[in-house]
Amino acid sequence: MTNPFQLLGISDDVVNAVKDLGFENPTPIQEQSIPVLLEGTNDFVGLAQTGTGKTAAFGLPLLELIDFKVNKPQALILCPTRELCLQIANDLKNFSKNIANAHVVAVYGGANIMQQLREIRQGIQIVVATPGRMLDIIGRKAIDFSNVKYVVLDEADEMLNMGFQDDINDILSTTPDDKKTWLFSATMPSEVRRIAKNYMDNPVELTMGTKNTGNVNIEHEYYIVRARDKYAALKRIVDFNPDIFGVVFCKTKLDTQDIAEHLIKDGYNADALHGDLSQQQRDKVMQRFRERNMQLLIATDVAARGIDVNNVTHVINYSLPDEIESYTHRSGRTGRAGKTGISICIINSKELGKIRQLERIIGKQFTKAELPTGFDVCEKQLFSLVHKVHNVEVNNEQIDQYIPRIMDEFKDLSKEDVIKRFASLEFNRFLDYYAKAPDLNAAVGEDRGERGERGERRGRGSEGYTRLFINLGSVDEFTRGDMLSFICNNGKIGGKSVGKIDLKGVFSFFEVEDAVADKVFEGFKSVEFNGRQVRIEKSGDSGRGEGAGERRGGGERRGGGFGGERRSGGGYRGGDRRSSGGSGRREGGNSGGGFRDFSGRSRDEKGGSGRREGGNREGGSGERRKKW
Ligand code: AMP
Repeated sequence: MTNPFQLLGISDDVVNAVKDLGFENPTPIQEQSIPVLLEGTNDFVGLAQTGTGKTAAFGLPLLELIDFKVNKPQALILCPTRELCLQIANDLKNFSKNIANAHVVAVYGGANIMQQLREIRQGIQIVVATPGRMLDIIGRKAIDFSNVKYVVLDEADEMLNMGFQDDINDILSTTPDDKKTWLFSATMPSEVRRIAKNYMDNPVELTMGTKNTGNVNIEHEYYIVRARDKYAALKRIVDFNPDIFGVVFCKTKLDTQDIAEHLIKDGYNADALHGDLSQQQRDKVMQRFRERNMQLLIATDVAARGIDVNNVTHVINYSLPDEIESYTHRSGRTGRAGKTGISICIINSKELGKIRQLERIIGKQFTKAELPTGFDVCEKQLFSLVHKVHNVEVNNEQIDQYIPRIMDEFKDLSKEDVIKRFASLEFNRFLDYYAKAPDLNAAVGEDRGERGERGERRGRGSEGYTRLFINLGSVDEFTRGDMLSFICNNGKIGGKSVGKIDLKGVFSFFEVEDAVADKVFEGFKSVEFNGRQVRIEKSGDSGRGEGAGERRGGGERRGGGFGGERRSGGGYRGGDRRSSGGSGRREGGNSGGGFRDFSGRSRDEKGGSGRREGGNREGGSGERRKKW
């Protein structure tokens, strides 16, 4: 029987490779675009969501069009982040594994440029790159693009959003005029439209689904809670879904870290992914998530962009994104490769208007969901446990030796009694935990959230002290004593002015007397540690108004989650994070404008640090945003 990829015009070597990857049938986007792209004569615009098989849609035709006898760059693929860059390069290597002399190089910031230059020198045909590092390499005259026949702009909307417009222009200007440009984008704002108009010649356009329409496999839900109950709501959603494998999106790096830290402390198997982590740290977090050694990935928009992890069951919007378009990217982390997924928004009643806007944009209705009661959670967890007990693999060899003693212990009990006792062992803990759990659902129009948020201002220092955040912690090998000297030396204050020091993983909190707080800020203005800029902020600043910690109200008891093996807790974290220090990341670009903002302001108006880092501009930084 002829393989359906063969019918589309893909050669045996490549067909065999994709078969090995488990691709049996082309996805709709592959079915539509492969025959068009195989002709190699057209510019192309594909409006497609992530997770639809886009990489193979352009990757397979590219492999057919490239002359692998020639060791010169013939295809250039530009994408917004290093994660996506690695993913695409990896996919292409897999697709081309049976092609003799096929060489794909991934070029991205934050990694050793020498190694990348070496690979380029050795001869390659396909370059997958993030714009910043690509420009560096072009600037070093280390690559010759005169043989490039195809340029792919992947996730074009994201590249624009991240301000790569000028970089892309500069890169394209080094490629031949007669190359063909293939552009893929999940959304089609006017800026992307404009590239198609200005830089392409009568492109063939394919739209998978309706414009801006989210993946049909994703269901969208929202929960209305008071702001102070958000963290408790998050936990309850997770507890009600014992097999959740999800990504939780927060707006800021601080919130991301904060929520992850608190979830870990509460016994959940979670970790954070954001731009303050070094590349190695991010790689390790991602590796654990990919391997499903972690259940909840708490991420910023930028850090999680382009991430392709299959079988993500839930995306949770702990905070709604600043830009409406980001929602499509967030929710696209689930429902990939034909699977179904749920995208959840935890909102307060004032944000209902934003949900209506999202409904209009993605053309799908959101379901208003009710947070389960404590009893619902207990029941769900109990039956999850029962199910697990029923299906557990028994190691007869090991357990047999103990059976006589165990049977002896239970000899007075009936089967029913034994089962009751096993179930109660866990169930009692659930009941105990949720005994006084309140109803977390807030009524529409209820504004208690706002009061709660203000009333329960968290992160406050003790009386007479200012509580400060610092982006260094135990992973930087700091003890409390080290931190005290570090604060005193740089802040030029005496030890007596320092109050509580709360040492965390990749960050810490400390208190200083109110009177010396300004001095400490001044002292830390340009301090570096291991090549990294040390950052001090007032705790509670930078959008930390919501989240975990002291605000975890709602009567939810702290600590000790349940479901033992599922939440292996914080034990794994320390070691993983020990690789911090200056990453020297640099991926070019500033955040570009043009995207709608829920706040109605452009990001230019929002103050911020304007920092530039490894393909990883994090939201709310106030960086300059350019238009294409
Ligand atoms: P992409 O949109 O390229 O990121 O692909 C999303 C996921 O779908 C990846 O994990 C791919 O490996 C997978 N995939 C792509 N094409 C197919 C196919 N034809 N059959 C099965 N899985 C696919």
